Amino acid sequence: QSVNESYSLYCDISQLTEKDVEYFKSILAPSALSQDESDLEAFNNDWMHKYRGQSKLVLKPSSTEQVSKILKYCNDNKLAVVPQGGNTGLVGGGVPVFDEIIISTANMTSIRSFDTVSGALVCDAGCILEVLDNYLAERGYIMPLDLGAKGSCHIGGNVATNAGGLRLLRYGSLHGTVLGLEVVLPDGTILDNLSTLRKDNTGYDLKQLFIGSEGTLGIVTGVSIMTPKRSKAVNVALLGVSSFENVQAAYKRSRDELSEILSAFEFFDKGSIDLVKKHLVAGKNDPLESPHPFYILIETSGSNKEHDDEKLNNYLEGLLTDEIVQDGVVAQDTTQYKNLWAIREGIPEACSKVGSVYKYDLSIPVPVFYQMVEDMRNRLDKEGVLGEDKSVDSVIGFGHIGDGNLHLNIPANSYSEEVINIIEPYVYEWTAKHAGSISSEHGLGLFKSPHLHYSKSPSMIQMMRRIKNMLDPNGIMNPYKYLPEK
Ligand code: FAD
Repeated sequence: QSVNESYSLYCDISQLTEKDVEYFKSILAPSALSQDESDLEAFNNDWMHKYRGQSKLVLKPSSTEQVSKILKYCNDNKLAVVPQGGNTGLVGGGVPVFDEIIISTANMTSIRSFDTVSGALVCDAGCILEVLDNYLAERGYIMPLDLGAKGSCHIGGNVATNAGGLRLLRYGSLHGTVLGLEVVLPDGTILDNLSTLRKDNTGYDLKQLFIGSEGTLGIVTGVSIMTPKRSKAVNVALLGVSSFENVQAAYKRSRDELSEILSAFEFFDKGSIDLVKKHLVAGKNDPLESPHPFYILIETSGSNKEHDDEKLNNYLEGLLTDEIVQDGVVAQDTTQYKNLWAIREGIPEACSKVGSVYKYDLSIPVPVFYQMVEDMRNRLDKEGVLGEDKSVDSVIGFGHIGDGNLHLNIPANSYSEEVINIIEPYVYEWTAKHAGSISSEHGLGLFKSPHLHYSKSPSMIQMMRRIKNMLDPNGIMNPYKYLPEK
């Protein structure tokens, strides 16, 4: 998509002036506003170093009222804004395209309340996911979501992207665990829906509209979320498998035999672990001696260690006896538990160490999951861009089998138009042909918006546009992203 062409659609958007900056200075503490180019660098660049904006101003409000004043002013004066949390998004949604004002939630970090009976946590949008999880660990609870970016991503950003991650298999998506939201609309209205109720059938469930809206409808300032009890007994095993058919067989069995204690079922291929071994400290700890074409990381969480150990051991023995898995190791202590997870969680970072990564986050029916990776590998190989000393390093697949979510990653020395044209639209056509989704959990951002039609019908896209126009008639919220051009 040419952003210059898109820009013409938003010709009503105004340019930032000194008068505007003076207004923001009048409502924010001096340290909550920066025009300094070196400060802005981190806010203008995304995690992958793929997208780069040219914003001249970042605002870091510390209260919902300040966010409200900022948005009202921007709406009245037609100034475009980009909400930004931890800036770990993978689709170019959290950084400006041009010179939009960045509104960061970095200063909104209060935990507002925690109910030790129900497990309802209410907090500011800028709380870092890992900080929340550590807070809950001290109280015997756990966040219902977990992802590799937990040390940086904000809960507001998680809600805005409807992040999935490693615990979705067990606790479901944020559409189920979020109990309420506080959202500031573009005109400054504070929509206070910070309910802690599990059940509330009074009217449209408006919070759902903002979960996964990627900052295009309003800014999430507060989150109320249901947190489960932290399991007393947790086991993690890493298994080596000879074929993708056997990965599926092991998953099917895990649902029968581990059922209620199964909390994660992740898979990755040999190419993934090879990258982790090559680029990360986590890779120095591969506990399986010989290489395998596929790996499974399986986690169980329950309340009775003896019971869980027995169940897991029986399950693993069955897999080995029936030659569904070739080798396996079970973590014996917390350090080993962390080391095994570090291999799986390190894959995105290991890919980025190669240089650039073409990243595709797809929902695909599990039986054809790995066929996508193989087809893409063959395609790139045939075009002569894959392999040692070629521009593309490898084609790897990993992801959340239990959620039907494949991460197809193609690390390369640098981004090239030639390679993109080999990958796209092939990858989207392939996914649509198999009734999949072109964005399973990362969202649309700037990257996927032109391709939305592969996953949504014209009438659905039209309805989304109407909602956007109703809530953000001036188009100031995260423009140029999410929805395709007319
Ligand atoms: P940002 O990147 O800052 O923003 C993301 C989007 O949300 C942007 O469109 C932004 O405008 C909007 N936004 C941010 N805050 C707000 C707000 N308060 N109100 C309104 N809009 C807002 N994702 C998964 O789903 N599962 C994974 O397993 C997973 N693993 C990851 C691993 C790594 C190593 C990395 C780097 C990313 C991973 N992600 C994963 C991507 C994931 O989307 C983000 O990490 C996270 O959810 C985004 O949160 P953030 O605070 O960084 O948001």
